[in-house]
Amino acid sequence: MYDFIKNQDSEVYGAIEREEQRQSEGIELIPSENYVSEAVLEACGSILTNKYSEGYPGKRYYGGQENIDTIENLAIDRAKKLFCAEHVNVQPYSGSPANTAVYFALLEFGDTVMGLKLDHGGHITHGLPIAFSGRAYHFVQYGVNKKTGRLDMEEVRQLALTHKPKMIVAGFTAYPRDIEWKKFKAIADEVGAIAMADISHTAGLVAAGVLESPVPYFDVITTTTHKTLRGPRGAIIMCKEKYAKAIDRAVFPGLQGGPHEHAIAGKAVAFQEALQPAFREYAMQVKKNAHHLAEALKKRGFELVSGGTDTHLILADLTNKGISGKDAQVALDKVGITLNKNTVPDDPRPPFDPSGIRMGTPAITTRGMKEAEMEKTAEWIDRTLSVINDDKALADIKEEVKTLCLKFPVPGIKI
Ligand SMILES: *Cc1c(COP(=O)(O)O)cnc(C)c1O
Repeated sequence: MYDFIKNQDSEVYGAIEREEQRQSEGIELIPSENYVSEAVLEACGSILTNKYSEGYPGKRYYGGQENIDTIENLAIDRAKKLFCAEHVNVQPYSGSPANTAVYFALLEFGDTVMGLKLDHGGHITHGLPIAFSGRAYHFVQYGVNKKTGRLDMEEVRQLALTHKPKMIVAGFTAYPRDIEWKKFKAIADEVGAIAMADISHTAGLVAAGVLESPVPYFDVITTTTHKTLRGPRGAIIMCKEKYAKAIDRAVFPGLQGGPHEHAIAGKAVAFQEALQPAFREYAMQVKKNAHHLAEALKKRGFELVSGGTDTHLILADLTNKGISGKDAQVALDKVGITLNKNTVPDDPRPPFDPSGIRMGTPAITTRGMKEAEMEKTAEWIDRTLSVINDDKALADIKEEVKTLCLKFPVPGIKI
């Protein structure tokens, strides 16, 4: 597959080869990651990367667009069908630029916006003070209830009544529970705010119908395409027809130049895959696996924020285990289990070395792993955290992890 790179550039080739090995021999639990299909890989590696196509299908600023327009229209039509959306823009380079484009389209600098706090599961684009969103707009941040670990919709409502935001962002990067979309929309309506949903993490589960969709209710919806949706790195923006013009103008020429048509082709291929019955099976298994992994961890004394999960995502607070999130991440890396350290709500520890770890099942479910493998994974996590300074014990676990993983090939990696 990489013959040309191999012959021409041994340094890049070597790193790709080692990364193939890492991906195939380890358990990938980072909840924002997934493995795309061979077809998506081919689209992303295609000659479409050669083409400039500023503008939109039928209204481009360069010649030679007949095939590019076909591809972008396919991506748009399939995304509309997948999410039952009125309007879709498939050009955002990634999730952060997509969110920025929405703010740029529908707000004035300095406007008041509500978003979830970063350490309660929000994203940096939802008003982190040092990020563009937090500098350009006046973000008022809501949180989760300390006791339940869940969103407190009455708190959201009271904040909205007090601050009268122009927009309410409902979006979550480390929140394991279902979202009450209708309640969010009702609060936005009560104060006259634009309702924006950022479903980056759960889009695949929403598309498959295994989680409720905000698309019928919300004014604007953004999502990355590379998480549970299992497409290439990128994002899309969906909106009601009345916001379509403003959104399109904010993406181009407001924020971006030429769209990445090779990535848009990858999105089109991935959306077609997500429209198949097999994808619904996949999404159901992602949820089942997450539930099973959560229960298996609880059985071993792990404390989960909110007590469990309704989605693909699990957040564990390791305080009672006497280990920090960072030390856990480092030890688990040594056995080939990849996850990320994460803050827990109102974390007393700093973000670089927080109290928790975040896990998810989208990637391992793509490999075909099921409940039995979740049980093994929980056992390995537990064992690893009890032998973090014992290199021999860690090496033994790594061997067991590798043996299991090699039975579940990663799409696009031949071993
Ligand atoms: C991942 C994520 C993003 C940003 O996506 P990038 O592609 O990394 O820029 C935005 N919002 C949420 C909720 C996310 O989970």
